[in-house]
Amino acid sequence: MSMQRTLVTGAGGFIGHHLVTALKTDGRWVRGVDLVEPQYGATDADDFLVADLRDPAAARAATRGVDEVYALAADMGGMGYISSHHALILHNNALINLNTLEAARQNGVPRYLYTSSACVYPEFKQTDAAVTPLREDDAYPAQPQDAYGWEKLISERLCMHYREDYGIETRVVRFHNIFGPLGTWDGGREKAPAAMCRKVAIAKLTGQREIEIWGDGEQTRSFCYIDDCLEGIRRLMASDHREPINLGQDRLVTINQLADIVAAIAGVALDKRHVPGPQGVRGRNSDNTTLREVLGWEPRVSLEEGLARTYGWIERQVRAQLAVAPAVAAPAR
Ligand code: NAD
Repeated sequence: MSMQRTLVTGAGGFIGHHLVTALKTDGRWVRGVDLVEPQYGATDADDFLVADLRDPAAARAATRGVDEVYALAADMGGMGYISSHHALILHNNALINLNTLEAARQNGVPRYLYTSSACVYPEFKQTDAAVTPLREDDAYPAQPQDAYGWEKLISERLCMHYREDYGIETRVVRFHNIFGPLGTWDGGREKAPAAMCRKVAIAKLTGQREIEIWGDGEQTRSFCYIDDCLEGIRRLMASDHREPINLGQDRLVTINQLADIVAAIAGVALDKRHVPGPQGVRGRNSDNTTLREVLGWEPRVSLEEGLARTYGWIERQVRAQLAVAPAVAAPAR
């Protein structure tokens, strides 16, 4: 049998960069496409296109001659970014997904995995920190909090209709807060685990005794380590499960607890200063019943283990940045 050829869109981003490496380890030929090359290390892709998937011609070139597509490209970031760029995110991500799926159809790509998000779930089911874990069918009636989630829902449906009308085997995964090394950790697009690691590392390395937390810190989430994410999506791609499926951890923690775990890993005692800031929904957790049933598997890496690996990498980044520009990395107090 000839070697499987895989396209990863968003291959310059956090999950895409790791996924390319994992697929190469599986023995596949891999093409990556992204607006940018990976920021934190060279790609392992056989072929890497720097291209804009909002352009249909770029999407056609990227999907040519491949057996499967992992569609990860998106304009995205943490709550700070998602809650303040609705028009841009809806516009960019809709174009990316309309173009990529249509180009895959035109090029006769048989299999396509779309990366959706827990942000599709309705705000009214996430008003309590002690939230009931979200099942896949909780997505309807729909009321995502942000344009980011609405676009994900539309693209999920696009995948469903392309499967029904054109026979392309689409898979849809809803990620719940994936984190790990080699992800954005500063600049405004970083998500909570990376931001927390950065804040704790700066406090530790500059001798501060305090970190800032957005809101009262009692909002809850679950966090899934990147290695489990990679294992889950490759299993899903190989499966015959056609409906959207959650992929995340189901251990609920508060943001305050997340801060305490990171501080313990760093070996420092820190006070928390609660400041106004975007917090997203009050509570969110993943119901993994379908995941266990369909994939015979669920995430394994503990939060402490995943954060230890992530913190070590981010502390090295902060250390390097402080050595170059201490005034920038260490905020004035
Ligand atoms: P990321 O921001 O690190 O990677 C996304 C990549 O897409 C970036 O490298 C970006 O340059 C690229 N991109 C943006 N616009 C593009 C365009 N017009 N053309 C080509 N490339 C473009 O994000 P990530 O954390 O790796 O997320 C990957 C996917 O998983 C995204 O679809 C995201 O919405 C989804 N997701 C991630 C999480 C998470 O916790 N990380 C949670 C839910 C869903």
